[in-house]
Amino acid sequence: MLDEMLKCAGKIALGGHIRPDGDCVGSCLGLYRYIKDNYKEKEADLYLEDIPEPFKFLEGAEDILHEIPEDKTYDLFICLDCGSEDRLGFSAPLFKKAVHTACIDHHVSNGSFAEENYVVPDASSTSELIYNLAEKEKISKSAAEALYLGIVHDTGVFQYSCTGPSTFMAAAELLGKGIDAPKIVRDTFYVKTYAQNQILGRALMESIMFLGGACIVSYIRKSTMEFYGVTPKELDGIVSHLKNTKGVKTAVFMYETEPEVYKISLRSDDTVDVSAIAARFGGGGHKKAAGLTMSGSFYNIINRLSAQIESQLKGSL
Ligand code: 5GP
Ligand code: MN
Repeated sequence: MLDEMLKCAGKIALGGHIRPDGDCVGSCLGLYRYIKDNYKEKEADLYLEDIPEPFKFLEGAEDILHEIPEDKTYDLFICLDCGSEDRLGFSAPLFKKAVHTACIDHHVSNGSFAEENYVVPDASSTSELIYNLAEKEKISKSAAEALYLGIVHDTGVFQYSCTGPSTFMAAAELLGKGIDAPKIVRDTFYVKTYAQNQILGRALMESIMFLGGACIVSYIRKSTMEFYGVTPKELDGIVSHLKNTKGVKTAVFMYETEPEVYKISLRSDDTVDVSAIAARFGGGGHKKAAGLTMSGSFYNIINRLSAQIESQLKGSL
């Protein structure tokens, strides 16, 4: 499906979700390199918001466009790792104007909003889906680096339950392209700046257990982020640390984006479907990892979320 689609289009745009994470960047740059390496005659552009610093070593990262040109129309717009049109952010107008559209994604909340949709909620990552759709011999080392990075990030280094046999097979094939896998894992997943570690420490120290220890929550105010000089992109991973608390079934991490507005990350084990909770308040994601934005005071928000978590926990008893 992928190569047929690419062959039919002269001008191709790629776009991923707002606040791009590892899988979003990995799948977008993986496919971008795939097109550049194999379809040199095509015009291909990649639209993403500014990406986290550790991912900037990937080949093609310097080509990423952060604004849309006026009067430009593409034959094909491919959305990657993006569950809805509004999550495309600034590139959405290009999607609307494109002659044809496609979406490759693994969010259970994806409503198949493009013309062609390849949505596999059970897949570990969009990067694994790109690997599956691509013709293997056409994947270059630089495309492999990006796809491997994406898989590593959405599986928590092959740890989460979304990691299946097919994930390891894809990873093995990508390793065969000569990539430096340990370096990708270390430099992009584990290494944090001193300030990031300090703010992680703050979040853990100030965390609160609730619902009898089945849940944990922590939040970071904007003023705290400013104090440590840390941007929202650099708070990735805190929610996983919270989730690793013994006995915890659902972890909630929130950071303030504006006064009384919080971006929230939810993580759970099998008992609670956090994508349903996120969707109820206008967000989305996966059963065990979802996100949303909510307005209100910290206590008001946690009360509303807690009621939803509690009713699911009761239902599972
Ligand atoms: P994170 O907590 O790491 O930001 O996101 C977890 C998952 O939920 C990711 O797959 C992400 O794409 C999705 N997600 C996060 N925030 C939102 C949101 O505001 N809306 C929707 N629809 N999905 C989100
Ligand atoms: Mn993903």
